[in-house]
Amino acid sequence: MRAAVRAVASAASGMTFTPRGAGNPPAVRQDQVKPDQRRSAGVFAGADRAGSGPVLFEAVLLDRDGTLVEDVPYNGDPEKVRPVAGARAALDRLRAAGLRLGVVSNQSGLARGYFSVRQMRAVHARIEELLGPFDTWRVCPHDDAAGCGCRKPAPGLVHAAAADLGTVASRCVLVGDIGRDVGAALAAGAAGVLVPTPVTRAEEVAAAPWVAADLPGAVAEILRRQAAIVPVSAPWPQPSARPVRRGRRGGTVLVVRSDSAGDVLVTGPAIRAVAHSADRVVLLCGPRGQAAAELLPGVDEVVAHPLPWIDPDPGPVDADGMRALTARLAAVGADEALVFTSFHQSPLPLALLLRMAGVPRIAAISDDYPGSLLDVRHRVPPGVPEPERALSLAAAAGHGLAPGDQPTLRLAAGVGPPPVRLGASGYVVLHPGSAASSRAIPADVAVGIARALGEAGHRVVVTGGPDERDLTAEVAAAAGGVDLGGRTGLADLAGVVARAGAVVVGNTGPAHLAAAYGVPVVSLFAPTVPFGQWGPYRVPTVRLGDAAAPCRDTRAATCPVPGHPCLAGIDPEEVVEALRSLGVPAATATVAPAPTEYAAPTATVHGTTTAGAVAVPVTGGSGR
Ligand SMILES: [Zn+2]
Repeated sequence: MRAAVRAVASAASGMTFTPRGAGNPPAVRQDQVKPDQRRSAGVFAGADRAGSGPVLFEAVLLDRDGTLVEDVPYNGDPEKVRPVAGARAALDRLRAAGLRLGVVSNQSGLARGYFSVRQMRAVHARIEELLGPFDTWRVCPHDDAAGCGCRKPAPGLVHAAAADLGTVASRCVLVGDIGRDVGAALAAGAAGVLVPTPVTRAEEVAAAPWVAADLPGAVAEILRRQAAIVPVSAPWPQPSARPVRRGRRGGTVLVVRSDSAGDVLVTGPAIRAVAHSADRVVLLCGPRGQAAAELLPGVDEVVAHPLPWIDPDPGPVDADGMRALTARLAAVGADEALVFTSFHQSPLPLALLLRMAGVPRIAAISDDYPGSLLDVRHRVPPGVPEPERALSLAAAAGHGLAPGDQPTLRLAAGVGPPPVRLGASGYVVLHPGSAASSRAIPADVAVGIARALGEAGHRVVVTGGPDERDLTAEVAAAAGGVDLGGRTGLADLAGVVARAGAVVVGNTGPAHLAAAYGVPVVSLFAPTVPFGQWGPYRVPTVRLGDAAAPCRDTRAATCPVPGHPCLAGIDPEEVVEALRSLGVPAATATVAPAPTEYAAPTATVHGTTTAGAVAVPVTGGSGR
């Protein structure tokens, strides 16, 4: 069905592209050469940047009206085309950097008969005359009534344009002027930048993960973020007091990420970058992050110790404890240390202990003056996603991802199978709780969502921690689903998530597990921290909830506003609709094939029967 819709969209665009598929030639323009040939040195030309490994973005997709050109409603007249200020120069910067460009545009004026395909072609020709060539044009000719898969905020146009450009949505960034543009980007798993105009609604600005003042500003930040993950070739400008044991490449690197499982998971790409150039990687984490640390690829050893200047509920600073930690850190014998932190945390207390432990080279992000505590003091502007923020620190210390290792979340291979019979893959995981209650889905909302999912034909698996069992039992009962509350360790939970069709969750660990498996997320995101930094990373996502609620940017662990309004107003039907938009089918009639790699699932877990589970064997893989 979607392929047919795309074909319509392509034909209506009137341009030279055809959807990929049997019998179709690759959908590229005559002037487009192979991606690798177009990979200009521009982005990587800085004297301090080395190599040309994995990149964040291979293509930039742009909305048309209000983004590239001034919005003239239902314009069929090429004479009325007016580029926005600075558009030509900004687009030429992207072209020079080797990024491919596409236009993705809703043109419901076609469905409404306000202009013809011929007129639209003339407008597009005029746009290319003024702004230079685009590598693909994708247009949705429908209006909302059609219920198509291409009209933004549906992700169809983004997927189609990415395919035209020989890439995938997660390696694209979309620039647009309204919430529909950002919604389409996120639903496809792409990055989305909002460039507001006077018609952009305040709530759309509040909900966007990334906001730029104008098109040139968006382009500058795209290129900056692109460059920031490329490793510098000489990261240690000041000779250290002690020689490095085995040279800069190799040796033992201590990486640090304290706090919760989610914090550790989002540091995964940076740790993989370190592991690519180190002989041995030792990860210091907090007790709450240890289970996540053990799931990360590239980690050779985990040291768990609370850091009282990081923990949200810290114990006292104990002198003996600090001496013991310093001795433990000295025993690691690290040649260098990278201290990863979130934007509101300081690396400097630990840097002092690392100095006392004799670590010769230390890198961290610090706005505070570090004196001689840091050898690499890295700075990152606000708003950068946590995984990229950490990856940019690794790059500043000379560590880049291995060729072919994309900057996405990933877990070690071989995470265990689901602990119970959950039926075929494709169920919906609903995780109502959170360690921070300000980020949890209100119980009555979760129950309503469960009921709506069940009525829509979704198989629901409810997950939660040991202290959330009452909640998960109530929620699971409303859906006629499976209750796994308190019955999964993090590795088991990862296995459950890996085989899900989607995860419905607040801003908490399972959202990052889903991202690690490419499982779409319906994110009921309390705005206590920025969505752009903590939202599910590079995975198809629909964000729900009031992004402008009074708890915004408070970092509160307990909701400071009576009634938890940021999430309390979510209509369960919004979740059902989000799953539809993400292409997650209700899987009532699915019958799994015979089990393959995960045969003989257990019937009970921790003595609890699994009544209510669909009695179909678990199959391997999630099909993504
Ligand atoms: Zn459409």
